[in-house]
Amino acid sequence: MKVKSIFRVLESIYPRRCPGCDRVISGNKTFCEKCKDDIVYVGENFCMKCGKRMWEDNINEFCGDCRRRKRSFDEGRGVYVYRGPMKMAMYRFKYSNRRCYARTFAGETVRCLGKWRGLKDIDGIIPVPMYRNKMKGRGYNQAEVIAEALGKMLRVPVYNDFVVRGRETAPQKNLDDEGRRHNLKNAFIIKQNSVKLNRILIIDDIFTTGSTMEEISRVCRKAGVSEIYCLCICTGQEV
Ligand SMILES: [Zn+2]
Ligand SMILES: [Zn+2]
Repeated sequence: MKVKSIFRVLESIYPRRCPGCDRVISGNKTFCEKCKDDIVYVGENFCMKCGKRMWEDNINEFCGDCRRRKRSFDEGRGVYVYRGPMKMAMYRFKYSNRRCYARTFAGETVRCLGKWRGLKDIDGIIPVPMYRNKMKGRGYNQAEVIAEALGKMLRVPVYNDFVVRGRETAPQKNLDDEGRRHNLKNAFIIKQNSVKLNRILIIDDIFTTGSTMEEISRVCRKAGVSEIYCLCICTGQEV
């Protein structure tokens, strides 16, 4: 059986679902009619550094966070604002084995950000790694799932072992800003330096403060990567 027809068979067994409500949808739709209008895209007005959505009347180039913090990556972008149906969508994608949403997320990334430099002429896609124990419990790393789907669409190789997790860190969500930064020190290690990547796209599911992206970009920069772009499927709205 040809690869393409295997995909078709899989598609009929695992039909496309709306990430917003998990209902089965037909054809090439991304979201169902009901959820469609509730999905908030990052749109045109965003921070040129981290990609967070900014208010229409904010004419600054960078958001407050990026003016204050060190950012070791060149540019980051997000597709959706982490709000409304996208909250449950990300939850199911992460914890309820809804890996099938990755096809919609990757397709929408290309549709919304196709002209962005971070998707062009990159040498490799790097998913934010997960701890081995966590991976065992959950069975998959959601960042890897997006990376694989996007890599296939862009025909760019995905390097799951380029960066690995170092020492175990406490869950980020229980910590304040300073604690988060401290917690992440030495959290990532470059493992596969031999591939000599020059331009990379790092992928994660949600961008919050950006401390994870900062730490992982910092080690990549140190290892000699010259251009670093970050993509998160969901990002925040400037507060
Ligand atoms: Zn829906
Ligand atoms: Zn920013």
